[in-house]
Amino acid sequence: GKRPGESISRGHKNYELMLNLQLGIRHSVGRPAPATSLELKAAAFDPKEKIWTRFPTEGSKYTPPHQCCEFKWKDYCPVVFRALRKLFQVDPADYMISICGNGALRELSSPGKSGSFFYLTEDDRYMIKTMKKSEVKVFIRMLFAYYNHVRNFENTLVIKYYGLHCVKLTGPIQRKVRFIIMGNLLRSEYTIHRRFDLKGSSLGRITDKSESEIDNTTILKDLDLNFIFKLQKSWFDEFCWQIDRDCEFLEQERTMDYSLLVGIHFKEITSSGELIPCGSQTSSGNNANESTSPDMEENNLDPKRLGAVKLGSNMPARVERTIRKPEAVFHLVGEQTGEIYEVIMYFGIIDILQDYDITKRLEHAYKSIQYDPTSISAVDPKQYSKRFRDFIFKVFCEDV
Ligand code: ATP
Ligand code: CA
Ligand code: CA
Repeated sequence: GKRPGESISRGHKNYELMLNLQLGIRHSVGRPAPATSLELKAAAFDPKEKIWTRFPTEGSKYTPPHQCCEFKWKDYCPVVFRALRKLFQVDPADYMISICGNGALRELSSPGKSGSFFYLTEDDRYMIKTMKKSEVKVFIRMLFAYYNHVRNFENTLVIKYYGLHCVKLTGPIQRKVRFIIMGNLLRSEYTIHRRFDLKGSSLGRITDKSESEIDNTTILKDLDLNFIFKLQKSWFDEFCWQIDRDCEFLEQERTMDYSLLVGIHFKEITSSGELIPCGSQTSSGNNANESTSPDMEENNLDPKRLGAVKLGSNMPARVERTIRKPEAVFHLVGEQTGEIYEVIMYFGIIDILQDYDITKRLEHAYKSIQYDPTSISAVDPKQYSKRFRDFIFKVFCEDV
């Protein structure tokens, strides 16, 4: 399979930044600290809780010598993120190896519209995203609620965040780069054949790729969606319950513009990428089919840690193909065709740190002049959550 992104090696424009990040993480995670407790004091969440460390080129009492220009490294609420990593059962040594080990990070060609950069660790476990200052503010503001939410709801679909940092370049070019480290939702031992970023709004929610350019790495959107997802009853009930809890949380925190990211692996697909529906002549036992056995060597993943089925990860399910009639191309949900496929699904809620700020309010105001206000992604958090859920509950259903 094709690995997404470009490896950052010497000479890449963000090579130094990657080294800064790796030095910083090694310092933050490796620093001696008292045993991590999950019972945190309110003070740990204080926005003033941050540690600046200077990394001079020649090294210091606390930092190793390095080949980059001098920089400063900031850890936001370090005690909280240590607790989050413990809660999410991340071993500090493994975490450090994933991010700072021998493998380089891969830079994904800006998948979003916000201008953030994304990096993927060599082992595919973590995604690193550059953040706007406003997003950092929102996250710090909601950190206490986030911590309680992920602690109370083991099966939450809300994305797992492991660290929040800032690199300040102190050389001739002064600039600050803020990073968040999160789990890669679509990390899989199977090839992900389709990925959908779903919001429940329609305006502009379509890929700009042509039919022939669409491949495994294309991020498809609401108006590209040509499936409904069928979960077994017990999973479906849990899914609905959890989406409600997660949306209540996001609504209370007054954020919006988040998506449900869905990744699908088709069990029966030809080598040229044609999907084979269940019960069709060619289905099962056909040598031309791509094997569903995990392609381990290819992804170089550790099999011990994979394979557990949980809500939103590695879930066996079925999908039904839908089509939009020409007169209904702007309908979010197409008509069912009866064509069913066996799949493995991955999903979770991402990009949760946008608040309904002045920019989003203005975006809503000016787009409303020309378009149906309910089709615009930027709406008040309460409306956003309602529309998001209504949509999700239309495209996910119980498999009977
Ligand atoms: P915008 O604000 O324009 O929506 P953004 O720059 O904030 O974009 P995101 O929405 O966070 O970017 O992510 C863009 C894409 O990157 C997603 O659609 C998804 O395909 C991928 N992505 C983001 N976060 C993750 C994650 N944790 N795991 C896997 N893929 C992710
Ligand atoms: Ca987004
Ligand atoms: Ca965003």
